Amino acid sequence: MKKRRLFFRIIGGLVLIFIIVTVFNALLVKSKQPSPKPTDVVIDEGKAVEHLSQAITFKTVSYQDRSKFDFTEFTKFISFLEESYPGVHDHLELEKINEYALIYKWKGSDSSKNPIGLTSHYDVVPVLDGTEGNWEHTPFSGTVENGKIWGRGTLDDKIGVIGILEAVEFLVNDGFKPARDVYIMFGFDEEIGGDKGALEIVNTLKERGITFDFVLDEGGAIVENMVPGVDQPVGVVGISEKGSATAELSIEGSGGHSSQPKNQTNIGRIASAIAKLEDTQFTGDLRGPGEDLFEYVAPEMSFTMKYVFANKIIFEPIIEQILLQQPATAALIRTTIAPTIFQAGEQYNALPEKATAIINHRLMPGDSLEEVKTFIEDTIEDDDIKVTITGSEASKVSSINGWEFKSIQQAARNVYNNAVIAPYLMFAGSDAKHYDSISKNTYRFLPVQITSEDLNRMHGTNEHISKDNFIQAIKFYAEIIKESNQ
Ligand SMILES: [Zn+2]
Repeated sequence: MKKRRLFFRIIGGLVLIFIIVTVFNALLVKSKQPSPKPTDVVIDEGKAVEHLSQAITFKTVSYQDRSKFDFTEFTKFISFLEESYPGVHDHLELEKINEYALIYKWKGSDSSKNPIGLTSHYDVVPVLDGTEGNWEHTPFSGTVENGKIWGRGTLDDKIGVIGILEAVEFLVNDGFKPARDVYIMFGFDEEIGGDKGALEIVNTLKERGITFDFVLDEGGAIVENMVPGVDQPVGVVGISEKGSATAELSIEGSGGHSSQPKNQTNIGRIASAIAKLEDTQFTGDLRGPGEDLFEYVAPEMSFTMKYVFANKIIFEPIIEQILLQQPATAALIRTTIAPTIFQAGEQYNALPEKATAIINHRLMPGDSLEEVKTFIEDTIEDDDIKVTITGSEASKVSSINGWEFKSIQQAARNVYNNAVIAPYLMFAGSDAKHYDSISKNTYRFLPVQITSEDLNRMHGTNEHISKDNFIQAIKFYAEIIKESNQ
Protein backbone atom coordinates (compact mmCIF):
# COMPACT_ATOMS: atom_id res chain seq x y z
CA MET A 1 0.00 0.00 0.00
CA LYS A 2 2.76 2.41 0.98
CA LYS A 3 4.78 1.52 -2.10
CA ARG A 4 1.83 2.29 -4.30
CA ARG A 5 1.32 5.65 -2.70
CA LEU A 6 4.99 6.46 -3.15
CA PHE A 7 4.78 5.46 -6.80
CA PHE A 8 1.85 7.83 -7.41
CA ARG A 9 3.65 10.57 -5.53
CA ILE A 10 6.69 10.22 -7.73
CA ILE A 11 4.56 10.22 -10.89
CA GLY A 12 2.58 13.19 -9.59
CA GLY A 13 5.82 15.02 -8.80
CA LEU A 14 7.21 14.38 -12.26
CA VAL A 15 4.02 15.57 -13.92
CA LEU A 16 4.13 18.72 -11.82
CA ILE A 17 7.76 19.38 -12.77
CA PHE A 18 6.89 18.77 -16.42
CA ILE A 19 4.02 21.25 -16.25
CA ILE A 20 6.08 23.88 -14.42
CA VAL A 21 9.01 23.62 -16.85
CA THR A 22 6.90 23.63 -20.02
CA VAL A 23 4.62 26.45 -18.84
CA PHE A 24 7.69 28.41 -17.83
CA ASN A 25 9.10 27.90 -21.35
CA ALA A 26 5.86 29.23 -22.82
CA LEU A 27 5.94 32.28 -20.55
CA LEU A 28 9.43 33.08 -21.80
CA VAL A 29 8.22 33.33 -25.42
CA LYS A 30 8.69 36.92 -26.57
CA SER A 31 7.43 38.64 -29.70
CA LYS A 32 10.02 38.88 -32.46
CA GLN A 33 8.32 41.93 -33.98
CA PRO A 34 10.15 45.28 -33.76
CA SER A 35 8.11 48.27 -32.56
CA PRO A 36 6.91 50.29 -35.53
CA LYS A 37 8.39 53.74 -36.13
CA PRO A 38 5.45 55.03 -38.16
CA THR A 39 6.57 56.26 -41.56
CA ASP A 40 6.68 59.97 -42.35
CA VAL A 41 6.98 59.44 -46.09
CA VAL A 42 4.36 61.48 -47.94
CA ILE A 43 3.66 60.56 -51.54
CA ASP A 44 1.91 62.59 -54.25
CA GLU A 45 -0.72 59.90 -54.51
CA GLY A 46 -2.52 61.13 -57.62
CA LYS A 47 0.67 61.31 -59.61
CA ALA A 48 1.87 57.90 -58.41
CA VAL A 49 -1.40 56.22 -59.34
CA GLU A 50 -1.30 57.84 -62.75
CA HIS A 51 2.21 56.48 -63.26
CA LEU A 52 1.21 52.91 -62.39
CA SER A 53 -1.87 53.19 -64.55
CA GLN A 54 0.25 54.36 -67.50
CA ALA A 55 2.86 51.66 -66.88
CA ILE A 56 0.18 48.98 -67.29
CA THR A 57 -0.66 50.16 -70.81
CA PHE A 58 2.66 48.99 -72.25
CA LYS A 59 2.32 45.41 -73.48
CA THR A 60 5.66 44.20 -72.16
CA VAL A 61 4.64 40.57 -72.45
CA SER A 62 7.02 37.64 -71.97
CA TYR A 63 6.52 34.58 -74.15
CA GLN A 64 8.24 31.23 -73.86
CA ASP A 65 9.01 31.67 -77.55
CA ARG A 66 11.36 34.66 -77.45
CA SER A 67 10.66 35.57 -81.07
CA LYS A 68 7.16 36.66 -80.00
CA PHE A 69 8.44 39.49 -77.77
CA ASP A 70 7.31 42.89 -79.03
CA PHE A 71 10.40 44.91 -78.11
CA THR A 72 8.95 48.22 -79.30
CA GLU A 73 6.72 48.07 -76.20
CA PHE A 74 9.77 47.47 -73.99
CA THR A 75 11.60 50.43 -75.52
CA LYS A 76 8.55 52.65 -75.03
CA PHE A 77 8.28 51.51 -71.43
CA ILE A 78 11.91 52.51 -70.73
CA SER A 79 11.32 55.95 -72.30
CA PHE A 80 8.23 56.33 -70.15
CA LEU A 81 10.36 55.69 -67.05
CA GLU A 82 12.90 58.28 -68.16
CA GLU A 83 10.19 60.90 -68.65
CA SER A 84 8.31 60.10 -65.45
CA TYR A 85 11.22 60.05 -63.02
CA PRO A 86 13.49 63.02 -63.70
CA GLY A 87 14.93 63.00 -60.16
CA VAL A 88 15.91 59.34 -60.43
CA HIS A 89 17.52 59.88 -63.82
CA ASP A 90 19.42 62.96 -62.56
CA HIS A 91 20.85 61.34 -59.43
CA LEU A 92 21.27 57.71 -60.42
CA GLU A 93 23.41 56.23 -63.16
CA LEU A 94 21.42 54.12 -65.63
CA GLU A 95 22.98 51.23 -67.49
CA LYS A 96 21.16 48.97 -69.92
CA ILE A 97 22.18 45.33 -70.20
CA ASN A 98 21.03 43.42 -73.27
CA GLU A 99 19.21 46.67 -74.17
CA TYR A 100 16.23 46.04 -71.90
CA ALA A 101 17.52 45.01 -68.49
CA LEU A 102 18.09 48.08 -66.32
CA ILE A 103 20.61 48.81 -63.59
CA TYR A 104 20.30 52.09 -61.72
CA LYS A 105 23.20 52.88 -59.40
CA TRP A 106 22.72 55.38 -56.62
CA LYS A 107 26.13 56.25 -55.25
CA GLY A 108 26.37 56.17 -51.48
CA SER A 109 28.65 58.23 -49.26
CA ASP A 110 30.44 55.29 -47.62
CA SER A 111 32.22 53.03 -50.09
CA SER A 112 33.53 50.78 -47.32
CA LYS A 113 30.07 49.26 -47.00
CA ASN A 114 28.53 46.66 -49.27
CA PRO A 115 25.70 47.90 -51.46
CA ILE A 116 22.08 46.80 -51.26
CA GLY A 117 19.88 45.93 -54.21
CA LEU A 118 16.18 46.27 -54.94
CA THR A 119 14.93 44.31 -57.89
CA SER A 120 11.73 43.74 -59.79
CA HIS A 121 10.67 42.94 -63.36
CA TYR A 122 8.55 44.75 -65.90
CA ASP A 123 7.65 41.87 -68.17
CA VAL A 124 4.23 40.34 -67.56
CA VAL A 125 2.62 37.03 -68.42
CA PRO A 126 0.32 36.95 -71.45
CA VAL A 127 -3.45 37.13 -71.10
CA LEU A 128 -4.71 33.71 -72.12
CA ASP A 129 -6.48 33.68 -75.48
CA GLY A 130 -10.22 33.73 -75.00
CA THR A 131 -10.11 35.13 -71.44
CA GLU A 132 -9.89 38.85 -72.33
CA GLY A 133 -13.69 39.09 -72.16
CA ASN A 134 -13.68 37.86 -68.56
CA TRP A 135 -11.81 40.94 -67.39
CA GLU A 136 -13.86 43.67 -65.77
CA HIS A 137 -11.53 46.19 -67.42
CA THR A 138 -9.42 45.26 -70.40
CA PRO A 139 -6.07 43.90 -69.20
CA PHE A 140 -3.82 46.63 -70.61
CA SER A 141 -6.14 49.59 -70.00
CA GLY A 142 -4.68 50.59 -66.64
CA THR A 143 -8.18 51.66 -65.61
CA VAL A 144 -8.44 53.44 -62.27
CA GLU A 145 -11.85 53.04 -60.70
CA ASN A 146 -13.21 53.07 -57.14
CA GLY A 147 -9.76 53.22 -55.61
CA LYS A 148 -8.36 50.35 -57.65
CA ILE A 149 -5.88 50.14 -60.47
CA TRP A 150 -6.62 47.39 -62.97
CA GLY A 151 -4.55 45.39 -65.36
CA ARG A 152 -1.85 42.86 -66.06
CA GLY A 153 1.21 43.69 -63.99
CA THR A 154 -0.52 45.61 -61.20
CA LEU A 155 0.62 42.86 -58.82
CA ASP A 156 3.25 41.00 -60.81
CA ASP A 157 5.34 43.04 -60.95
CA LYS A 158 5.08 46.55 -62.33
CA ILE A 159 3.99 47.55 -58.85
CA GLY A 160 7.56 46.70 -57.83
CA VAL A 161 9.15 48.71 -60.63
CA ILE A 162 6.92 51.75 -60.22
CA GLY A 163 6.84 51.42 -56.42
CA ILE A 164 10.63 51.49 -56.16
CA LEU A 165 11.02 54.38 -58.63
CA GLU A 166 8.34 56.46 -56.87
CA ALA A 167 10.15 55.86 -53.57
CA VAL A 168 13.55 56.87 -54.95
CA GLU A 169 12.07 59.91 -56.70
CA PHE A 170 10.59 60.96 -53.38
CA LEU A 171 13.85 60.41 -51.47
CA VAL A 172 15.95 62.24 -54.06
CA ASN A 173 13.64 65.25 -53.97
CA ASP A 174 13.61 65.08 -50.19
CA GLY A 175 17.39 65.46 -50.14
CA PHE A 176 18.05 61.95 -48.84
CA LYS A 177 21.56 60.58 -49.38
CA PRO A 178 22.26 56.87 -49.04
CA ALA A 179 25.31 55.71 -47.09
CA ARG A 180 25.65 52.49 -49.05
CA ASP A 181 25.43 52.26 -52.80
CA VAL A 182 21.88 51.37 -53.74
CA TYR A 183 21.34 49.36 -56.91
CA ILE A 184 17.93 49.16 -58.53
CA MET A 185 17.69 46.37 -61.06
CA PHE A 186 14.80 45.55 -63.37
CA GLY A 187 14.57 42.36 -65.41
CA PHE A 188 12.54 42.01 -68.59
CA ASP A 189 12.16 38.23 -68.92
CA GLU A 190 11.54 37.01 -65.37
CA GLU A 191 8.41 35.15 -66.38
CA ILE A 192 10.43 32.85 -68.62
CA GLY A 193 13.39 32.36 -66.31
CA GLY A 194 15.29 35.66 -66.41
CA ASP A 195 18.25 34.34 -68.42
CA LYS A 196 18.68 37.46 -70.55
CA GLY A 197 17.63 39.93 -67.87
CA ALA A 198 18.44 39.23 -64.21
CA LEU A 199 21.09 36.63 -64.98
CA GLU A 200 22.95 39.02 -67.29
CA ILE A 201 22.68 41.81 -64.72
CA VAL A 202 24.22 39.43 -62.20
CA ASN A 203 27.02 38.38 -64.57
CA THR A 204 27.85 42.03 -65.27
CA LEU A 205 28.01 42.95 -61.59
CA LYS A 206 29.94 39.79 -60.75
CA GLU A 207 32.65 40.76 -63.22
CA ARG A 208 32.95 44.06 -61.35
CA GLY A 209 33.39 42.22 -58.06
CA ILE A 210 30.23 43.60 -56.52
CA THR A 211 28.79 41.80 -53.49
CA PHE A 212 25.50 42.89 -51.96
CA ASP A 213 24.62 42.65 -48.29
CA PHE A 214 21.11 41.90 -49.49
CA VAL A 215 18.95 41.96 -52.57
CA LEU A 216 15.19 42.28 -52.21
CA ASP A 217 12.92 40.84 -54.89
CA GLU A 218 9.18 40.15 -55.17
CA GLY A 219 7.85 37.21 -53.18
CA GLY A 220 5.62 36.65 -50.18
CA ALA A 221 2.97 39.27 -49.39
CA ILE A 222 1.05 40.33 -46.31
CA VAL A 223 -2.00 38.11 -46.20
CA GLU A 224 -4.95 38.10 -43.80
CA ASN A 225 -5.96 34.78 -42.26
CA MET A 226 -2.73 33.37 -43.57
CA VAL A 227 -1.81 31.48 -40.42
CA PRO A 228 -4.72 29.95 -38.48
CA GLY A 229 -4.65 31.18 -34.91
CA VAL A 230 -2.99 34.52 -35.70
CA ASP A 231 -5.45 37.43 -35.71
CA GLN A 232 -3.14 39.93 -37.35
CA PRO A 233 -2.22 39.78 -41.04
CA VAL A 234 1.05 37.95 -41.57
CA GLY A 235 3.67 39.21 -44.00
CA VAL A 236 6.02 36.51 -45.18
CA VAL A 237 9.51 37.25 -46.40
CA GLY A 238 10.95 34.42 -48.48
CA ILE A 239 14.45 33.59 -47.24
CA SER A 240 14.88 30.66 -49.61
CA GLU A 241 13.04 29.12 -52.54
CA LYS A 242 12.45 25.43 -53.03
CA GLY A 243 14.21 23.64 -55.84
CA SER A 244 12.25 22.36 -58.80
CA ALA A 245 13.18 19.08 -60.43
CA THR A 246 11.71 16.75 -63.00
CA ALA A 247 12.09 13.02 -62.50
CA GLU A 248 11.37 10.71 -65.40
CA LEU A 249 10.48 7.11 -64.74
CA SER A 250 10.58 4.92 -67.80
CA ILE A 251 10.35 1.25 -68.62
CA GLU A 252 10.87 -0.50 -71.93
CA GLY A 253 10.26 -4.09 -72.80
CA SER A 254 8.24 -6.41 -74.95
CA GLY A 255 4.69 -5.28 -75.58
CA GLY A 256 2.57 -7.96 -77.15
CA HIS A 257 -1.07 -8.58 -77.87
CA SER A 258 -3.60 -7.56 -75.29
CA SER A 259 -5.34 -10.95 -75.53
CA GLN A 260 -2.60 -12.65 -73.52
CA PRO A 261 -0.98 -10.11 -71.24
CA LYS A 262 1.69 -10.86 -68.69
CA ASN A 263 0.74 -10.34 -65.07
CA GLN A 264 2.80 -7.18 -64.98
CA THR A 265 2.59 -4.78 -67.90
CA ASN A 266 4.69 -1.69 -68.46
CA ILE A 267 1.75 0.53 -67.59
CA GLY A 268 1.10 -1.46 -64.43
CA ARG A 269 4.68 -1.21 -63.28
CA ILE A 270 4.97 2.54 -63.71
CA ALA A 271 1.57 3.00 -62.08
CA SER A 272 2.64 0.86 -59.15
CA ALA A 273 5.89 2.80 -58.82
CA ILE A 274 3.94 6.05 -58.57
CA ALA A 275 1.49 4.57 -56.10
CA LYS A 276 4.41 3.48 -53.89
CA LEU A 277 5.93 6.97 -54.03
CA GLU A 278 2.62 8.60 -53.09
CA ASP A 279 2.10 6.14 -50.25
CA THR A 280 5.59 6.65 -48.89
CA GLN A 281 6.19 10.42 -49.36
CA PHE A 282 9.28 12.24 -48.18
CA THR A 283 9.44 12.57 -44.43
CA GLY A 284 8.06 15.85 -43.11
CA ASP A 285 10.56 17.67 -40.98
CA LEU A 286 9.98 21.04 -39.37
CA ARG A 287 13.33 22.67 -40.02
CA GLY A 288 14.89 25.63 -41.82
CA PRO A 289 12.62 28.43 -43.08
CA GLY A 290 9.43 26.51 -42.23
CA GLU A 291 10.53 26.25 -38.62
CA ASP A 292 11.60 29.92 -38.64
CA LEU A 293 8.10 30.94 -39.78
CA PHE A 294 6.54 29.33 -36.71
CA GLU A 295 9.19 30.76 -34.39
CA TYR A 296 8.05 34.20 -35.58
CA VAL A 297 4.29 33.69 -35.59
CA ALA A 298 3.92 31.52 -32.46
CA PRO A 299 4.57 34.42 -30.06
CA GLU A 300 1.55 36.20 -31.59
CA MET A 301 -0.75 33.22 -31.04
CA SER A 302 -2.87 31.98 -28.14
CA PHE A 303 -1.18 30.65 -25.02
CA THR A 304 -1.82 27.06 -26.13
CA MET A 305 0.08 27.59 -29.38
CA LYS A 306 2.87 29.40 -27.57
CA TYR A 307 3.02 26.46 -25.20
CA VAL A 308 3.24 23.95 -28.05
CA PHE A 309 5.95 25.82 -29.97
CA ALA A 310 7.95 26.76 -26.87
CA ASN A 311 8.19 23.04 -26.14
CA LYS A 312 8.78 21.97 -29.70
CA ILE A 313 11.25 19.35 -28.57
CA ILE A 314 8.35 17.42 -27.08
CA PHE A 315 5.57 18.32 -29.49
CA GLU A 316 7.41 18.29 -32.79
CA PRO A 317 5.94 14.97 -34.02
CA ILE A 318 2.42 16.26 -33.33
CA ILE A 319 3.10 19.62 -35.02
CA GLU A 320 4.45 17.82 -38.07
CA GLN A 321 1.41 15.56 -38.26
CA ILE A 322 -0.86 18.61 -38.20
CA LEU A 323 1.18 20.41 -40.88
CA LEU A 324 1.11 17.34 -43.11
CA GLN A 325 -2.71 17.40 -43.19
CA GLN A 326 -2.89 20.36 -45.60
CA PRO A 327 -1.01 20.52 -48.92
CA ALA A 328 0.09 24.13 -48.35
CA THR A 329 1.63 23.42 -44.96
CA ALA A 330 2.92 19.98 -45.95
CA ALA A 331 4.87 21.64 -48.77
CA LEU A 332 6.54 23.79 -46.13
CA ILE A 333 8.17 20.83 -44.41
CA ARG A 334 8.89 18.25 -47.08
CA THR A 335 10.01 17.71 -50.65
CA THR A 336 6.85 17.15 -52.68
CA ILE A 337 5.89 14.54 -55.26
CA ALA A 338 3.59 15.62 -58.10
CA PRO A 339 3.13 13.20 -61.02
CA THR A 340 2.26 15.50 -63.90
CA ILE A 341 2.63 13.47 -67.12
CA PHE A 342 1.91 9.79 -67.80
CA GLN A 343 2.51 8.41 -71.26
CA ALA A 344 1.99 4.93 -72.65
CA GLY A 345 0.09 3.15 -75.34
CA GLU A 346 -1.47 4.12 -78.63
CA GLN A 347 -3.83 1.37 -79.52
CA TYR A 348 -6.56 -0.24 -77.48
CA ASN A 349 -5.51 -3.82 -78.25
CA ALA A 350 -1.70 -3.53 -78.12
CA LEU A 351 0.41 -3.51 -74.99
CA PRO A 352 2.80 -0.57 -75.13
CA GLU A 353 6.50 -1.33 -75.30
CA LYS A 354 7.31 1.77 -73.35
CA ALA A 355 5.73 3.64 -70.49
CA THR A 356 6.97 6.85 -68.91
CA ALA A 357 5.88 9.16 -66.14
CA ILE A 358 7.09 12.61 -65.23
CA ILE A 359 7.09 13.72 -61.64
CA ASN A 360 7.61 17.31 -60.59
CA HIS A 361 9.40 17.63 -57.27
CA ARG A 362 9.81 20.78 -55.20
CA LEU A 363 12.90 20.28 -53.10
CA MET A 364 13.43 21.37 -49.53
CA PRO A 365 16.65 23.26 -48.83
CA GLY A 366 19.14 20.53 -48.03
CA ASP A 367 17.56 17.79 -50.18
CA SER A 368 19.82 17.26 -53.20
CA LEU A 369 18.79 16.00 -56.63
CA GLU A 370 20.88 12.89 -56.03
CA GLU A 371 19.06 12.18 -52.77
CA VAL A 372 15.69 12.53 -54.47
CA LYS A 373 16.79 10.06 -57.16
CA THR A 374 17.96 7.57 -54.55
CA PHE A 375 14.70 8.00 -52.65
CA ILE A 376 12.72 7.18 -55.79
CA GLU A 377 14.83 4.12 -56.61
CA ASP A 378 14.72 2.77 -53.07
CA THR A 379 10.97 3.31 -52.84
CA ILE A 380 9.85 1.80 -56.14
CA GLU A 381 12.15 -1.23 -55.83
CA ASP A 382 12.02 -2.00 -59.55
CA ASP A 383 15.41 -2.19 -61.26
CA ASP A 384 13.84 -2.28 -64.74
CA ILE A 385 12.47 1.22 -64.29
CA LYS A 386 15.06 3.77 -65.29
CA VAL A 387 15.05 6.95 -63.21
CA THR A 388 16.58 10.21 -64.41
CA ILE A 389 16.34 13.55 -62.72
CA THR A 390 17.07 17.09 -63.87
CA GLY A 391 16.41 20.48 -62.34
CA SER A 392 17.62 22.80 -59.67
CA GLU A 393 18.17 22.39 -55.99
CA ALA A 394 16.72 24.80 -53.45
CA SER A 395 18.37 28.20 -53.18
CA LYS A 396 20.56 29.02 -50.26
CA VAL A 397 18.86 30.08 -47.04
CA SER A 398 19.40 33.74 -46.13
CA SER A 399 20.05 34.91 -42.62
CA ILE A 400 17.33 36.19 -40.30
CA ASN A 401 19.75 37.27 -37.59
CA GLY A 402 21.61 40.12 -39.26
CA TRP A 403 20.67 43.76 -39.77
CA GLU A 404 19.45 42.94 -43.27
CA PHE A 405 16.39 40.86 -42.38
CA LYS A 406 15.70 43.05 -39.37
CA SER A 407 15.64 46.14 -41.61
CA ILE A 408 13.09 44.58 -43.92
CA GLN A 409 10.99 43.63 -40.92
CA GLN A 410 11.31 47.13 -39.47
CA ALA A 411 10.47 48.84 -42.79
CA ALA A 412 7.39 46.65 -43.21
CA ARG A 413 6.25 47.34 -39.64
CA ASN A 414 6.76 51.08 -40.12
CA VAL A 415 4.17 50.95 -42.90
CA TYR A 416 1.97 48.02 -41.84
CA ASN A 417 1.98 48.68 -38.08
CA ASN A 418 -0.13 45.75 -37.12
CA ALA A 419 1.25 43.03 -39.43
CA VAL A 420 3.41 40.20 -38.15
CA ILE A 421 6.48 39.93 -40.38
CA ALA A 422 8.03 36.48 -40.56
CA PRO A 423 10.54 34.50 -42.61
CA TYR A 424 9.21 31.90 -45.03
CA LEU A 425 10.05 29.30 -47.64
CA MET A 426 8.93 30.20 -51.19
CA PHE A 427 7.49 27.43 -53.33
CA ALA A 428 7.79 29.33 -56.61
CA GLY A 429 10.90 30.70 -58.25
CA SER A 430 11.74 34.28 -59.20
CA ASP A 431 14.71 36.33 -60.36
CA ALA A 432 15.98 36.28 -56.77
CA LYS A 433 17.76 32.96 -57.28
CA HIS A 434 20.08 34.59 -59.84
CA TYR A 435 21.20 37.10 -57.23
CA ASP A 436 22.24 34.40 -54.77
CA SER A 437 25.72 34.26 -56.29
CA ILE A 438 26.46 37.96 -55.70
CA SER A 439 24.53 38.64 -52.54
CA LYS A 440 25.02 37.49 -48.98
CA ASN A 441 21.27 37.44 -48.58
CA THR A 442 18.30 37.43 -50.95
CA TYR A 443 14.84 38.21 -49.64
CA ARG A 444 11.53 37.79 -51.42
CA PHE A 445 8.77 40.13 -50.33
CA LEU A 446 6.03 42.08 -52.09
CA PRO A 447 4.97 44.85 -49.69
CA VAL A 448 1.22 44.74 -50.24
CA GLN A 449 -1.58 43.54 -48.01
CA ILE A 450 -3.81 41.29 -50.05
CA THR A 451 -6.12 38.30 -49.84
CA SER A 452 -5.47 34.81 -51.10
CA GLU A 453 -7.96 35.59 -53.90
CA ASP A 454 -5.74 38.45 -55.06
CA LEU A 455 -2.83 36.02 -55.15
CA ASN A 456 -4.76 33.81 -57.56
CA ARG A 457 -5.26 36.78 -59.88
CA MET A 458 -1.53 37.28 -60.31
CA HIS A 459 -1.23 35.24 -63.46
CA GLY A 460 -4.97 35.01 -63.99
CA THR A 461 -7.95 37.21 -64.80
CA ASN A 462 -8.82 40.60 -63.25
CA GLU A 463 -5.41 41.35 -61.75
CA HIS A 464 -5.71 44.61 -59.82
CA ILE A 465 -4.39 46.45 -56.80
CA SER A 466 -5.99 48.96 -54.48
CA LYS A 467 -4.62 52.46 -54.55
CA ASP A 468 -3.98 52.32 -50.79
CA ASN A 469 -1.92 49.20 -51.15
CA PHE A 470 0.16 50.69 -53.93
CA ILE A 471 0.88 53.80 -51.87
CA GLN A 472 1.86 51.62 -48.90
CA ALA A 473 4.21 49.66 -51.15
CA ILE A 474 5.95 52.90 -52.21
CA LYS A 475 6.33 53.89 -48.57
CA PHE A 476 7.81 50.49 -47.77
CA TYR A 477 10.46 50.89 -50.49
CA ALA A 478 11.36 54.34 -49.15
CA GLU A 479 11.54 52.91 -45.63
CA ILE A 480 13.78 49.99 -46.57
CA ILE A 481 16.26 52.35 -48.24
CA LYS A 482 16.22 54.54 -45.14
CA GLU A 483 16.53 51.55 -42.80
CA SER A 484 19.58 50.38 -44.75
CA ASN A 485 21.45 53.57 -43.94
CA GLN A 486 23.49 51.82 -41.26
ZN1 LIG B 1 6.88 38.27 -60.89
